[in-house]
Amino acid sequence: MQKSTISFTQWFKLIHGLKKRSKGIRESGAFLLTKLGSSRIDRIVFYDQFDKSVSDTGIIQFKGGYDFYIYLGENDLEVFADIHTHPTEATNQSWSDRSHPMIRTKGHIAIIAPEFADNLFLTPNDCSFYKYNGEYKWEKFPKSSLPLTLKIRKHGYNT
Ligand SMILES: [Zn+2]
Repeated sequence: MQKSTISFTQWFKLIHGLKKRSKGIRESGAFLLTKLGSSRIDRIVFYDQFDKSVSDTGIIQFKGGYDFYIYLGENDLEVFADIHTHPTEATNQSWSDRSHPMIRTKGHIAIIAPEFADNLFLTPNDCSFYKYNGEYKWEKFPKSSLPLTLKIRKHGYNT
């Protein structure tokens, strides 16, 4: 099972970016990317960077897939996980979440953040993590073994 680490800086940027885009009224989302073969989150890409209208209907409808894949290839990046916000504290997958994986690869991870990420002290532990097993089947990670760990880095470390 793939595991990854994320710096506080990147995590804060992620949660702040989701909150800003959700504005307390709609879902927003992002991809967590690593360099090929690396287990450290290298950068965050928000869906609206590739599809400005992604949150217009209130739920995620991402149409930027083609440009996004080109971007991954050109930058030697791969997707560790996607994350999107839900309106309440309930972070269970909706029927739509289960039937529309952002990445249709077995082992892909989907994260759901509660309350439109309107809490800057949100940690990975407050979110739910699901692994895609193909054929629209998912498995929830137990809280005791989440695949993403927050890491403190030394001062001056390039995040
Ligand atoms: Zn959802």
